[in-house]
Amino acid sequence: MSRAGEESRLDEQRRELARTVRGWSIDQLHDQLRDAGVTHAFIVHENGEFQLSHPKILRPVQAFLELSHDFSRHEGVFIGREEGIRTLFFAFVHDTRRGLAQGGLRFWHYDSVADLLTDGLRLCQGMTRKNALAGLWWGGGKGIVALPSAYKLPGEIPERSPERLAIFEAYGRFIASLGGVYYTAEDVGTKTSDMDAILSRNRFVTCISPGVGGSGNPSPHTARGVFRALQAAWLFLERTERLEGVRVAVQGAGNVGVPLIDQLDEAGAEVWVSDVSEESLERLRLRRPRVHTLPVAEADRIFDLDVDVFAPCARGAVVNERTIPRLKARLVCGAANNILETPEDADRLRERGIAFVPDYVCNRMGIMNCADEWQGYLEEDVRLAAERVFPDTLRVLRHANNLHVSSLRAADELADIAASELNPLLGHRGRRIVDHLIASGWHLSEEAKHRSVEPAFEPPLHEPEIRVAWEKDGLFRGKGPAVASMPVSTASRPNLASFLSPLLMDVRARFLESIGGEGGGRPRRIAGSDHGGLGLQLAVERSLPYERQEVGRPEVIQLCQDQHDRNDAAIRDQLHQLGAGYDPAGWLDPMDVSVAEAVRRLFYTLVDEGLVVEENRLAYRCPRCESVLVASDLQRAKVGDGMGWRCGRCESVVEPDSSPQLFIQLEGMAGHLRRAIENGAVTFSGERWTNSVLADLDGLDPWCISRQYWWGNEIPEHFKGRPEDEVLSSWFSLAAWTLRALGWPETATPEPIEDVFVDPAWLRRWVVPSQLLALHLTGRPAFRRVHVHGTVQIRDRNLLRREDAAPAESRDEELYLFRTALRPMRKDLGNVVEPATLIRRFGADALRLGFLLALDRGPVESVTLGEGELRRARRAVQSLVSKVTGLYGMVREPLRTGPPRDADRAIVERCAAAAAEARSALEEHRYTRAAETLVEAVEAFAAYANAAAERRHEEAHQGDQSDLGAV
Ligand code: NAD
Repeated sequence: MSRAGEESRLDEQRRELARTVRGWSIDQLHDQLRDAGVTHAFIVHENGEFQLSHPKILRPVQAFLELSHDFSRHEGVFIGREEGIRTLFFAFVHDTRRGLAQGGLRFWHYDSVADLLTDGLRLCQGMTRKNALAGLWWGGGKGIVALPSAYKLPGEIPERSPERLAIFEAYGRFIASLGGVYYTAEDVGTKTSDMDAILSRNRFVTCISPGVGGSGNPSPHTARGVFRALQAAWLFLERTERLEGVRVAVQGAGNVGVPLIDQLDEAGAEVWVSDVSEESLERLRLRRPRVHTLPVAEADRIFDLDVDVFAPCARGAVVNERTIPRLKARLVCGAANNILETPEDADRLRERGIAFVPDYVCNRMGIMNCADEWQGYLEEDVRLAAERVFPDTLRVLRHANNLHVSSLRAADELADIAASELNPLLGHRGRRIVDHLIASGWHLSEEAKHRSVEPAFEPPLHEPEIRVAWEKDGLFRGKGPAVASMPVSTASRPNLASFLSPLLMDVRARFLESIGGEGGGRPRRIAGSDHGGLGLQLAVERSLPYERQEVGRPEVIQLCQDQHDRNDAAIRDQLHQLGAGYDPAGWLDPMDVSVAEAVRRLFYTLVDEGLVVEENRLAYRCPRCESVLVASDLQRAKVGDGMGWRCGRCESVVEPDSSPQLFIQLEGMAGHLRRAIENGAVTFSGERWTNSVLADLDGLDPWCISRQYWWGNEIPEHFKGRPEDEVLSSWFSLAAWTLRALGWPETATPEPIEDVFVDPAWLRRWVVPSQLLALHLTGRPAFRRVHVHGTVQIRDRNLLRREDAAPAESRDEELYLFRTALRPMRKDLGNVVEPATLIRRFGADALRLGFLLALDRGPVESVTLGEGELRRARRAVQSLVSKVTGLYGMVREPLRTGPPRDADRAIVERCAAAAAEARSALEEHRYTRAAETLVEAVEAFAAYANAAAERRHEEAHQGDQSDLGAV
């Protein structure tokens, strides 16, 4: 069958399976699980791969998730069942990078498993965003208990009745079994008394009664948050936060509506209120005589009032395709959950010029009130948290404005970036708990659990101590040939993708060390960070409530410096954990005095030679970054109805503009590098990179080195009349970084660096300018051998819209096709992985080995580190330790295993051949091959050790010596 044919067969199969889930009632799934004797089941997803506890039953659910628009890299769905209770328990875990998953427990009727899954997926992603944007160190989760099919509404089972208690105590046992990966709370259909019932069975619950240590009614705080959001939005629209005379329509005079109306009234706003309860309105009229109330029968007229602000505080989905055309307000901001019926309503509001504060930005005080109650409750904390709604609202509205997108999209984006931040104390602990659950057989029956299961991982070596020992020995300060890795960016916290280059440098250095002698010996290792440039400044700005001009230049630079120092320290720490060595004394950093001095020297040297010129040229300018952008900073993207250019960093739409900038004339230097390549003084790994560099040299443009932002190396004084607010481009600083690494300017003709590891993006931006300048200034290249490796990518789901889908069909499985795609690891894509996370789960040795095993897979531009490679590497490292050290023990002792047999000899030969093969592969920079032969050798060793141990057991009485020493 052709590839297309095979794909379409798989598509149809997947669609068919997903449809099955539409047809399943909760009872049907319950009965399937019961008949199979299953009490716990899971579907876990990571790095594009699903893992199912019971594939036969759950395969349709996997297909449903694959095709669901609401599935967004959710870490896991856990299902529980208990004998005697005819319903199912669910815990949805979306993202636990910021912390353990937290979100309310819904007790509701669902017609089908599909409806329940959709609700759970959507709500728990919402919780990730709500928690992250609120600055809480919690991840996103959601619980669901399906209402038993005999009922339609949760209220039909009375509070504290034996039936209700039994259900919630059983749910308590279920989440207790999950070991803390999910913390539950109150939500639609559940009551504080249900939380208390859960509390009686575990400790992973919040929103409990004040009598047992809970936080109590959050409504006044919610109202305060909404009020502050409204003020911030008014400041954004009208440049004042005073609400005097502003006309506000509030829908719903309930727990949140009333204290909100109080504050609006006190702030001098003119308020109209609707409610469907005459009693509530009557109470309000007595309390707030100035406020206008609509008659109950005309409650719906609230949408048509001629007001400035509409504040929905009653029900969700009230702002929709039907009501948006009726609104006269300029702002929608209220407490109701899920104000919009669909996400498209955010665009509808934007098209009508109506500003919108997404509900999860302004109504978050419910969760803020109870999220941290386990640490003791302080009302003051919650009051302060309500004030934070003000700057956060401003940030969201400004971000939307800069990006030309709806405020909902802007809030989601900011929240996703915040959600990708790893918990500073716990790391990615949720993921580790899930690993542990799976490894310890959470999903297995008691009987199956007793059969052998893979033990939860423990790092096999005492890695931290080994690493400390390396540093003590000053092991990385060799006098041999230098090896270098590309600088790691401090623009954000370091991610896994940043460490491939230092890791390869480390492998190379160890290899050179191990072979010693000519060409070997202890090499000098060159590593360091870059200063993060505009990316870092933007990250700092994103965390500020005000525009950078309002904060002031010195303060912003100080904040950037702090962020840079923090990220630089995190890079060193992660390298240390990874075991990739560097010389702490020789660590390079462009903001450090010695490199900053090299930057100045380089600038003035080029100025003296007349190579730095000021020219007026047409270039794209970003209105948000307020800087010129070079080609690599630009992104071709949709702008309005057509195509245009956006800033690659902040996505603002950019415009061409002419301005005087500083350029270096590199053209005259191209010849030196071309000759060095032709005569073999400089080589690149692979013809394609040689050709791409040669092609670049042919069309070398003047190099623009001025940038209009604040963070970076200052432009030394020389050109009169240049604006104050500018710095040298990061790439210029990094070329000086390289020269400094060579020993320039103290050494006039320094030795080139023997080997450098770099990804394709940095080849043009860093390696080529460094080579050109080094050849020009010292007569020798900066690098002799340039090894270009792929960029680490994440395997991800790609949901494509079916071309043949009928437009009226709204079910996701009919609308979409599932494909996998490789995506770069980027904070804004929410797929960043920190090495420390994987080190905790797999151990540093396995991570290093896994990296090498993954290196040559797929296209040369990318490296996909999958779970498969990591597991294989972990197995190899484990057998290395448990089996091979056992073997060495046997070798050291007088061996009692009898003379070697033919089978043994073959194994010994295989091991020796593997060692030779690994060595020559390392010599030729074929890292995957080297890693594979080593893994094979370890596996052979392990098999050998097993056989030898068995034989020793059998032949315990024979005391003959063997020639195992040959190993
Ligand atoms: P509530 O039940 O106390 O108040 C809702 C009020 O709206 C009631 O007075 C009700 O009569 C009225 N109402 C219902 N339908 C209406 C309609 N069609 N038109 C006009 N009025 C109508 O609820 P609450 O605690 O004040 O919460 C209000 C909204 O805010 C809900 O959507 C809730 O999910 C959300 N929310 C509340 C909190 C909180 O802390 N209470 C936190 C986050 C979100």
